[in-house]
Amino acid sequence: MSRRSCLNALLLVMLMTIPTFADEAKNQWKAGFGKVVITPDEPQWLNGYGGRTEPSDGKIHDLFARAAAFRDANDTTIVMVALDVVSISTAITDRISAAVEKSHNVPRANIMFACSHTHCGPALDDRLSHMLKMDEAAWAQVRKYQKIFDAKVTKAIQLAIDNLEPAILKHGTGQCGFASNRRAPLGEGPVDHTVPVLAAYSVKSDSKTPMGIIFGYACHNTTLGIQQWCGDYAGFAAIDLEEHHPGSVALFFTGCGADSNPLPRRKIELAQMYGRMLSLGVEAVLPSLTELKSPVQTNWTTIDLPFESVPTEEELKATAETGSFYLQQRAKYLLNEAKELGKVREDYSYPIQVWRFGDELTWVALGGEVVVDYVIRLKATLPGKAVWVTGYANDVMAYIPSERVLTEGGYEGDRSMVYYQQPSKWRAGLEDRIVETTAELAGK
Ligand SMILES: [Zn+2]
Repeated sequence: MSRRSCLNALLLVMLMTIPTFADEAKNQWKAGFGKVVITPDEPQWLNGYGGRTEPSDGKIHDLFARAAAFRDANDTTIVMVALDVVSISTAITDRISAAVEKSHNVPRANIMFACSHTHCGPALDDRLSHMLKMDEAAWAQVRKYQKIFDAKVTKAIQLAIDNLEPAILKHGTGQCGFASNRRAPLGEGPVDHTVPVLAAYSVKSDSKTPMGIIFGYACHNTTLGIQQWCGDYAGFAAIDLEEHHPGSVALFFTGCGADSNPLPRRKIELAQMYGRMLSLGVEAVLPSLTELKSPVQTNWTTIDLPFESVPTEEELKATAETGSFYLQQRAKYLLNEAKELGKVREDYSYPIQVWRFGDELTWVALGGEVVVDYVIRLKATLPGKAVWVTGYANDVMAYIPSERVLTEGGYEGDRSMVYYQQPSKWRAGLEDRIVETTAELAGK
């Protein structure tokens, strides 16, 4: 072979091994973030604790609607929304999703809403707010705020989509240790101390600073029960991360922490400290994240979960007159619902959302206050090198006990249902149905 043809051959081999623009584009993500303050302008009822008797009195820090949008090489757009509120309902998330589908053509299955479950956020027009001792004027204020809330959350999503730019996505898992199992015997039950993280880095700016960080933790966001607006430990953690990475937006996604509490609690300094511990758990893993290359596949379904027993309308009418405050509230709520449906509701349409990023990551979003047993079982069941389970997602309608917790009973298995205006505890069998349906959606 002549020297020239040798060079030509070498050049050809080099061209064949250099990644082309087409290869680059195959793995190319776009990412965008949006953030809007949702702190009410006026004193207003906080939600999370039924014992409150007064509206809010000032703030510790602002509450936010934060949104992330990601678009893969197939032009599939997914949107994630993190909200500093205790609960959200199907009615709220469907309404906002419909607006986003109309304006940006993103279907419902591609939008994931999660609330931080702070107990120092505003009451919304949802079922949980019926446990509050609010008069008609207070309810009118909640309904007025609801319209503002919807518009602001929609705005955050629109900002995220409009801000889409070429990005590298990376994910990994850190650790943080303050969550304690809150069921008796205290602290001895299972907990999930993992801190799943997804970070987006701009390609354009070649920056080491992430554009946005999504992070999770499985623990009740209930360090505080004060009268001031506050995002609790999750709010402090997000603010911490945003301060350490100027220009970034940090979204908190609660895990299966319904039976975990931050302990000890009830001091602002403790909420701050837990927030710092969590943000450090995120910081520790940021340098060693793995690039996420697979495009996303989205799946969504609802399953009808039956209640164990349902009262008759006559029984509800009697309770509405003579029961305790919470029993009366529930009886009135169920009677109203029965008027619309023609009967007392016997089951609940439960949302399950699954996003697969090839074999790299399977992301599950479950409605309700999900106990820790679900994340343990789903991690052992689902495909994907990494499994991320978000609770309190899309609709918070009740606690979601595992079969173990349902059998044991107590607050998470039974007593909490009254505050959610649900007729009784769930009928046995819900854990298998939720896990099996999730596995089907994940393609297993
Ligand atoms: Zn809770």
